[in-house]
Formats: sequence, C-alpha cells, structure tokens
Amino acid sequence: MSNQPHIIVIGGGFGGLNVVKALQDAPVQITLIDRHNYHLFRPLLYQVAMAGLSPADIASPLRVIFKRHQNVRTILGDVTDIDAEQRQVILATGERLTYDKLVVATGAVYDMKQPS
Ligand SMILES: Cc1cc2nc3c(=O)[nH]c(=O)nc-3n(C[C@H](O)[C@H](O)[C@H](O)COP(=O)(O)OP(=O)(O)OC[C@H]3O[C@@H](n4cnc5c(N)ncnc54)[C@H](O)[C@@H]3O)c2cc1C
Repeated sequence: MSNQPHIIVIGGGFGGLNVVKALQDAPVQITLIDRHNYHLFRPLLYQVAMAGLSPADIASPLRVIFKRHQNVRTILGDVTDIDAEQRQVILATGERLTYDKLVVATGAVYDMKQPS
C-alpha cells in the first residue's frame, strides 16, 4: 500500500474527469468512481438522437482514458453515502473505501416541480 494521499473522485463527468486529469501526474493515488463505466460526451447527445452517431461514439470507457496512469484506478459503483467522520465512501454493495481527500462531482438533476 502506498503512503501517498488517497483521493477519491465520485463522478466521471466533465468535472470529475478534469480533476483526475489535473492530478494524474501528482504524487497521489486516485480512485475514480462512477455508476457507469464510461464518460458520456453530452454535447453530442443530440447527434445520437438524430441517428447521426451511435451511442458508442460519444461514450468513452473511463478505464481506457486513464489506462496509462498507474496511480489512477477506476471503479464501477453507485455511491450511496459518505461517512465524513470515518472518511469513507459507501457503495451500494456495502463496500467502504477510505479517502484522505474527497471530490464529489456527481453533477445535477432537474427539479421538475412547478414553482409555487
Ligand atoms: C444534451 C446536453 C447537451 C449539452 N451541451 C453542452 C454544451 O454544448 N456545452 C456545455 O458547456 N455544456 C453542455 N451541456 C452541459 C454539460 O454536459 C454539463 O454541464 C456537464 O456534463 C456537467 O458535468 P458534471 O461533471 O458536473 O456532471 P455530469 O456530467 O452529470 O457527471 C456526473 C457523473 O457522476 C456520476 N454519478 C452521479 N451520481 C453518482 C453516484 N451516486 N455514484 C456514482 N456515480 C455517480 C454520473 O454517472 C456521471 O457520470 C449539455 C448537457 C446536455 C444534457
């Protein structure tokens, strides 16, 4: 086990990817967790809807993006909770991963409620 700080990044969207890319040559160990095993290039989703591109054209496997970086590991997992006191991320499987620093880059969801 390395003595380097362990950084967990939750989310392999543009936010999470850029954090990992900025740190990939730093003396740290990085774990990138996403519920999907790919990064989706959302700006081209409309091309898929128009059948101009296939879904695979806009989805890049996270493992492939960082395959040359020994200090980056990618995990397919759904984060259900964060235990800030224990510095642990909890996955849907019940597995707990301990971090030194945590980056939450899980994006946003729409609020479909009508304003009152
Ligand atoms: C159709 C469309 C077109 C767009 N076009 C443009 C554009 O042209 N230019 C532009 O600047 N922006 C565009 N955007 C907006 C842009 O895509 C978003 O601003 C950007 O994706 C946000 O990045 P993010 O990393 O914050 O979140 P996201 O891209 O949403 O990434 C979050 C990641 O976290 C993962 N995740 C979330 N919760 C969990 C969990 N509990 N456990 C594990 N993983 C989790 C998700 O699977 C996802 O991979 C577009 C968006 C859409 C939908």
